[in-house]
Amino acid sequence: MRRTFPGHPAAPGMALGRVRLEQPARFSIDTSPLPDAEIDAEVARLERAFAVAREDMAELRRKLHGALAREVGEFIDAHAQLLDDPDLIEGVRAMIRRGHYRAAAALKAQRDRLVAVFDEMDDPYLRSRGEDVDHVIARVQSALARQASAEEKKLATRVGEILVTDSVAPGELAHLASHGILAVVAGSGSPYSHTAILARSLHLPMLVNADGVLEDLRDGDLALVDGVRGEVVVHPAAQDLARYRTWQRDSLREGQRLAELAGAETRTRDGHQLRLFANAERPEDIERARNLGVAGIGLYRTEFLFLAHDGLPTENEQFTAYRDALLGAGGLPVTIRTLDLGADKADAAGLVTAAEPNPALGVRGVRLSLRQPDVFITQLRAILRASCYGPLRILVPMVTDAAELTEVRRLIEECGRDLRTAGFEIPEQFDLGAMIEVPAAALNVRAMLEVADFLAIGSNDLTQYILAADRNNDQLGKLYRPAHPAVLRMLAYVIARARAARKPVCLCGEIAGDPAFAPILVALGLDDFSMQPDRILGQRDALSRCERKTLRKLVPRLLRARGSEEIAALVASVQVTA
Ligand code: PEP
Ligand code: MG
Repeated sequence: MRRTFPGHPAAPGMALGRVRLEQPARFSIDTSPLPDAEIDAEVARLERAFAVAREDMAELRRKLHGALAREVGEFIDAHAQLLDDPDLIEGVRAMIRRGHYRAAAALKAQRDRLVAVFDEMDDPYLRSRGEDVDHVIARVQSALARQASAEEKKLATRVGEILVTDSVAPGELAHLASHGILAVVAGSGSPYSHTAILARSLHLPMLVNADGVLEDLRDGDLALVDGVRGEVVVHPAAQDLARYRTWQRDSLREGQRLAELAGAETRTRDGHQLRLFANAERPEDIERARNLGVAGIGLYRTEFLFLAHDGLPTENEQFTAYRDALLGAGGLPVTIRTLDLGADKADAAGLVTAAEPNPALGVRGVRLSLRQPDVFITQLRAILRASCYGPLRILVPMVTDAAELTEVRRLIEECGRDLRTAGFEIPEQFDLGAMIEVPAAALNVRAMLEVADFLAIGSNDLTQYILAADRNNDQLGKLYRPAHPAVLRMLAYVIARARAARKPVCLCGEIAGDPAFAPILVALGLDDFSMQPDRILGQRDALSRCERKTLRKLVPRLLRARGSEEIAALVASVQVTA
């Protein structure tokens, strides 16, 4: 019999499939007091479980690539931080030692206490952070009970299924998506949770807070998840299936409409030509981007080559990767960014030696490269050797001072001389660019333009440094706003100075591919955008609706805006919808 269950839409879309019911992990918890003689062994078990949970997360982190690595990586890092929280471990350890709790019982008590603290919070966003604690502790419990590996094996059978569960952690969601799950219905949770944010980016329909589903659905039930209306329909009737087909047709049509834009030029409604570049981390990204008609690769993030490697990649290994990137681009320019490790990008290669109290303000990007000249020179040699396979530009991350770029140029020239002496054919001249992602570099951009051949604005980092809001700290999600007037003013300034100096300036942070930002960036005079390949068509479409002349006139008012809402209202007032 047809039944509906309302749920809160956390990620849009619809899906029809068989239910896979997953009861909340229930661990049989022994609450009997622990004998004195077993305390040391129990603490050791606990510590091993934490270590296994940490290793699980690190393993997950290593397996993720591309856009997924960026999205999920942040969540995993946040969870990994929780796992490292000395108060959490110490609290549980003390309960075992002093309270004679067993490890699982102590973990559960800690979990209940912490989740209760979050539940008390008024702010729904902060309240939803209780889920993170829940997921992290569930991982440790799972490691304690040695259930994790059996769980992983079950994933392989999930193709075409709708997961109905109490809650799901972001890392698990990434796994599930890659195993073909169609949608997720969670009995608890909030649309602010990491998992929900991730589901949106994976285009995986998701409902949260769906009451009664765990009790009333059965494994194998046919169900329609409607992330548009916010309901699950079990044993859907003809009218539900018709609604689903209409939705499928409409989204297919939208996909086809966008597909027609592949290979097209990018122009605003009033005919101004723009250039769309792709961000790439893997060879597949370059291939995809080429088929969509891009002007080149605006950002090739080389750190992923390092993060996916045990130890440091050799000069030859790097050379092969850069050469393949250039060959894959088929004559389009490729902007290779030198290593940007440190801060949020985990250091699998072991380059960042000292633990830093403020990693985002510490030795990252070019600061690290200049402190590790052997590593840097190996990379520069590999890049220079690849340069004969296509047009290449070199981009330097995290530049604060023009002198850093000058030093990089000196090293490039030195590497070029050495390679020529060794018989390689290396061009005399390379286009060298600076990432503008540190406010000092932005405010002093005139000095940067004297030594750089081009600029690439890293709005992801620039936003975090302008607003002093860590881009990885989910508690600051509301503060971290690229549409903040302070960010816009800085973008406007950098773009205007680069244009005046007649040097190319591209923006390669996430907002470059966000249709909501298209009118703002056009207003600020940006012509070059670099984004993940799957954003290209949607953004080409959004940009083609922008009336550049009208938007440019809006600039003085945009820059005087007091807040993001005023900016959104100004843009909406001139935006063409059809
Ligand atoms: C940025 O900071 O905007 C950027 C493109 O670099 P990343 O995201 O790799 O730090
Ligand atoms: Mg950056």
